[in-house]
Parts: sequence; C-alpha cells; structure tokens
Amino acid sequence: MSCIFCKIAQKEIPSDIVYEDEEIVCFRDLEPQAPVHVLIIPKKHYESLDSVTESGEDKELLGHLMAKVHVIAARLGLENGYRLVNNCGEDGMQTVKHLHFHLLGGRQMGWPPG
Ligand code: 5GP
Ligand code: ZN
Repeated sequence: MSCIFCKIAQKEIPSDIVYEDEEIVCFRDLEPQAPVHVLIIPKKHYESLDSVTESGEDKELLGHLMAKVHVIAARLGLENGYRLVNNCGEDGMQTVKHLHFHLLGGRQMGWPPG
C-alpha cells in the first residue's frame, strides 16, 4: 500500500494525531495554512469524494465523520468558528489521493477561496 494517509492511519509513519476512533483519524497538516489546520480522514481508503457511494456503509462512515467535526473543532478550541474543506480531483487541487477534509481555524477566513 503506497498511500501516505493509509500509512498514517495505520501508524506506519508518524503524525500528530489529535483525534482517533475506530473509523476515522484526525492529524495536524504538515504545512498548516491557519493557526489550526488538521486533516480528518476515514481509515478506509477512498480515493476522493468521487469514490463515495450511496451504500449504507459509506453513508454511515461519512455521516460519522461529519458528526465528529464539531467535536474535534471544540477539542482544538475553535469556539469562534472554522472552515471545513474538501479538495476533489484536478480542478479541486487535490494532491493526496485519500479522501480527507481540511479543518481550518484560529483566524478570519476569506471568501471566495482561491
Ligand atoms: P490536498 O491538497 O490533497 O487537499 O491536501 C493534502 C494535504 O496533506 C496538504 O495540506 C499537505 O500539506 C498535507 N500532507 C501531505 N503529506 C502529508 C504528510 O505526510 N503528513 C501530514 N501530516 N500532512 C501531509
Ligand atoms: Zn489511503
């Protein structure tokens, strides 16, 4: 398995993990773009949001991940708000081909994103 985020999920390479349960793991981004910048990933490998189906398993997993976002945000002190980002595919500028959501906070965000 050559996927770097699978390796992080399986602790084959180190990362700064801030939350973990059976289904998902959240760790600090190597190149933070905000005072708080973490990545939330399912442990199961999906290449991108395009790989998510309407199967019960996928819905349950993604629903679980979404329900944990505010728990993680609270743990990281983001009581004033935050941004959740998914970059999908080439136009979305996805660079790591394992589904992940960026959770950013600790500063005022801009809009529209670049
Ligand atoms: P993408 O551009 O695919 O949406 O985001 C990939 C993110 O993964 C980038 O923000 C990048 O800094 C981060 N990243 C890439 N490789 C590693 C790594 O080995 N460890 C950690 N913690 N973050 C990584
Ligand atoms: Zn993977």
